[in-house]
Amino acid sequence: MSGIISGFETIYNRTPDAACFAPGRVNLIGEHTDYNGGNVLPCAIHLGIRCAAACRRDRWLQFFSESFPDSGVIVYQLDDLRLQGCWADYPVSVIRAFSAFGYRIENGADFYFSSDLPDGAGLSSSAALEVAVGVMLRTLFSLPLTQQELALIGQFAENRFIGVNCGIMDQFASAMGKRDHAILLDANSLSFQYAPLENASLVIVNSCVKHSLASSAYNDRQRECETARKMLNVPTLCSLSTEEFDSSSGKITDNTCRCRARHAIYENGRTIDAAKALINGNLSEFGKLMNASHTSLRDDYEVSCTELDFLVDTAQRIHGVYGSRMTGGGFGGCTVTLMEKSSEKEFITVIKQEYSRKFNIIPAVYSVTVCDGAGIIDF
Ligand code: ADP
Ligand code: MG
Repeated sequence: MSGIISGFETIYNRTPDAACFAPGRVNLIGEHTDYNGGNVLPCAIHLGIRCAAACRRDRWLQFFSESFPDSGVIVYQLDDLRLQGCWADYPVSVIRAFSAFGYRIENGADFYFSSDLPDGAGLSSSAALEVAVGVMLRTLFSLPLTQQELALIGQFAENRFIGVNCGIMDQFASAMGKRDHAILLDANSLSFQYAPLENASLVIVNSCVKHSLASSAYNDRQRECETARKMLNVPTLCSLSTEEFDSSSGKITDNTCRCRARHAIYENGRTIDAAKALINGNLSEFGKLMNASHTSLRDDYEVSCTELDFLVDTAQRIHGVYGSRMTGGGFGGCTVTLMEKSSEKEFITVIKQEYSRKFNIIPAVYSVTVCDGAGIIDF
């Protein structure tokens, strides 16, 4: 915390007006359901992005990130917000998105960022960055925006200007997170419900691999789901219950597309059941649903990889583990595992040992706490 204040002072030679924290997120279950009109169940985590900022009297914008020190201070002008092909395009896109939502920023500002999220690992550093900028702009310029609007603005910035066709989950979790709760979110309607997640340890393991297949496979999966949706003649795949799917799946003539649709529809059912299990305090049931989610992502959706399967198999065999699965888009990135608190130490030792023995890579392991969504921090 004091890090961003003194960092800001060193870079800009003055004191910031305000500081904030925006969390990253992990999706507990509900993978590849959002663009099929289904539910997701993420939670905000204590790892995230901190930002200190101050208004300027002129129309210059300056950005510095501890994660990209070699880039130095990156400068833009409010009258020319063209992207420059660097990380600061994310905050600038948020400023452009504010305009598109009717909130024109008329004064410049200086920003300083610090992060403890691994970037590009699937814990949504980009959404945390966007939401952090949103919180700072709201504060510096006294704008009447809700947390939910900040999430929508962040998503708009990333879709429209950065050109990443992400759903709303990441920004929503970062803005709307609640301590010790997961969020059951209907990605279509934005209706949501909090479900308690307590008395257990949540551990994220970064496989530290990212296979190049990821982005082309993502487009393939979207296309395959779209083909299945048309054959079923439904508005979205997840508008079908699992029973309705079972009785009509024969309409999908292509075997691969049928498997993709089965994943999306069953995963949506599991996600709703998983939220119920949390509400009932039934962590064993929740864990079984996580395991089933991984199997389906591996076999029906085919977005896992050897490293993720190994991490999940190893985790599922450790005493006290409720459930484990890959999380995020797939082909690398992270797994998420829920376990009894008393098993955490052994879990971390075993997973590091086994994974490095097999792949010669020491995985990054994060024991995370589930925290509130983005907001101002005192200094
Ligand atoms: P993730 O899964 O972490 O969201 P993305 O590829 O969507 O991965 O976003 C990562 C990008 O977000 C980085 O390449 C960088 O441009 C930006 N970013 C993330 N964290 C920071 C940071 N701390 N400082 C500056 N830019 C960041
Ligand atoms: Mg991202």
